[in-house]
Amino acid sequence: MNYTKYLNCIECQEAGLYCVKHRIEVERNLRKREIRKTLQIKDQQSDQYKHAIKGLLESYDIWKCTP
Ligand SMILES: [Zn+2]
Repeated sequence: MNYTKYLNCIECQEAGLYCVKHRIEVERNLRKREIRKTLQIKDQQSDQYKHAIKGLLESYDIWKCTP
């Protein structure tokens, strides 16, 4: 992922991490990566798969609650 545009963003600098616009963008990318990773697990009965789904659902809750 290319972080240069965030480093150069004044609003991100002021926010200390990501500004609202860029945070949404970053979270969307992370989510996509997590989903892709989960879908690559072949055995859907495996603990690994269940763990990945659980993590995904939990992160949705966190993302939803973050102001
Ligand atoms: Zn920004």
